[in-house]
Amino acid sequence: MTGLHCLSEVRSEGTDQRSVYLTFDDGPHPIFTPAILDVLAEHRVSATFFVIGQCVVGQPSLIQRIIADGHEVANHTMTHPDLSKCGPGEVERELLEASRAIKTAAPQASVRHVRAPYGIWTDEVLKASANAGLTGVHWSVDPRDWSCPGVDAIVGAVLDSVRPGAIVLLHDGCPLSELHPCTFRNLRSQTVMALSSIIPALHDRGYVVRSLPQSH
Ligand SMILES: [Zn+2]
Repeated sequence: MTGLHCLSEVRSEGTDQRSVYLTFDDGPHPIFTPAILDVLAEHRVSATFFVIGQCVVGQPSLIQRIIADGHEVANHTMTHPDLSKCGPGEVERELLEASRAIKTAAPQASVRHVRAPYGIWTDEVLKASANAGLTGVHWSVDPRDWSCPGVDAIVGAVLDSVRPGAIVLLHDGCPLSELHPCTFRNLRSQTVMALSSIIPALHDRGYVVRSLPQSH
């Protein structure tokens, strides 16, 4: 990584493999993270989970399962604030506390990637990320699954805009500040159902589904 920027897709050199990178934000969630892990396991593919530190605390077994299943755990801050509205000390603290929460849950985790909440990146955020040894990761495909647009809409949006190296944004959880008890039980059920169609469709098109590469 040179200069201050974040990845929005992965350029593969010297390979004709069509890779696609599934990423899940805002977990871990006690119902939907295991459901998503089950779908990924069924299709034998790996993915990257950008977890919120606050959600990690108290659910270490979910972080351990994500890693044991061969996926990557990455940093999505401690409390999911808009980092552009945080002071420099606060930005750094959000990043470091989240990495620490992940390490506490799973000491073997190596945390290398960060995604800013709402995809709001500033130079300050990129600088603090680099100082914390984290590479910023944005996305290139956003089916807006968090808005529950319907399973077909999520599947269609991904398949319409996917291309080799694409980073796909999906959600397995929800920031605690945005969680309403009435939506808890079906919060991400559309995402889980969509995923069951997306992965086989990607395989049909010759894509390999991966977690993010560890070096850039
Ligand atoms: Zn988020």
